[in-house]
Amino acid sequence: MKKKKTSRKKKKFSKKLLLIPFFFLFVLFSFSAFARWQFSEIVESRKTDMAKLPKGVKAVLSASSSAAFRVPILMYHYIEYVKDKNDTIRQSLTISPRVFDLQIKTLKDDGYTFMTVSELAIVLDGKRELPQKPILLTIDDGHWDLYTDILPILKKYHVKATAYIISGLIGGSDFLSKEQLEKVIQSGLVEIGAHTVHHVGLAYKLLPVAEYEVKTSKKQLEETYQIPVVSFAYPGGSFDVQAENVVKEAGFSLALSTIPGIKQSQENRFFLYRIRPGYRTGKDLLTYLQQDRFRPW
Ligand SMILES: [Zn+2]
Repeated sequence: MKKKKTSRKKKKFSKKLLLIPFFFLFVLFSFSAFARWQFSEIVESRKTDMAKLPKGVKAVLSASSSAAFRVPILMYHYIEYVKDKNDTIRQSLTISPRVFDLQIKTLKDDGYTFMTVSELAIVLDGKRELPQKPILLTIDDGHWDLYTDILPILKKYHVKATAYIISGLIGGSDFLSKEQLEKVIQSGLVEIGAHTVHHVGLAYKLLPVAEYEVKTSKKQLEETYQIPVVSFAYPGGSFDVQAENVVKEAGFSLALSTIPGIKQSQENRFFLYRIRPGYRTGKDLLTYLQQDRFRPW
């Protein structure tokens, strides 16, 4: 009898033991789901919601401006080797440093001239001629890879870029530290633009919220790093007429959207179009830049 009892106890105990790995799996799954949910709050939306664009913007989009310059503005977020293979959001927004290196090499070899966004403003003002084969690199959000992976490649080819920094997230776990950002600025290759204080989409926001996010981000960056901040990028590409006006009133010279396109003009000066180069390199990339119509992804 005693033996039977102990074997029953053993069976119960081993069943409980079996549950332990399931419990850990459950905890791990919940944590990664939570992390991904949190993370999704601070990354760009996958699709540009064209239906929600202001009427004035739609009118500009459908009109063909005669005074438009053909200037590709490439949009990047992460350039790094993503360690977490399950992090699908980060993977979809990332290109590897090797591909970025090849893209820059392709563009340099083909004679492209790398401009910053403030230089494009001077061209739009009519104060400077557009260089031969102009191109702009823009990197959103200010993640740490701007310092660790992107800056060394910009230095290698000596090309300029413009980075859009979320002023309230500097020093955050996934972002550049203040010291890293200082080094990025000191390189002289990266111009800094504002991207709100907390990465807030600006469409349908109360005026004081929009004003705080836009004006404070400019002020914080200018005062902390003693630099002029002349351009703004709408987080998630989200904006409306009010946001556009707030950006103008804050003293920005131009602003960038995530609307896919290549023609920049006075009409879309406060919602310049951008394109995503993805993994294209070599001929693929050069052919892509010759297109007139671009998809959001
Ligand atoms: Zn962003």
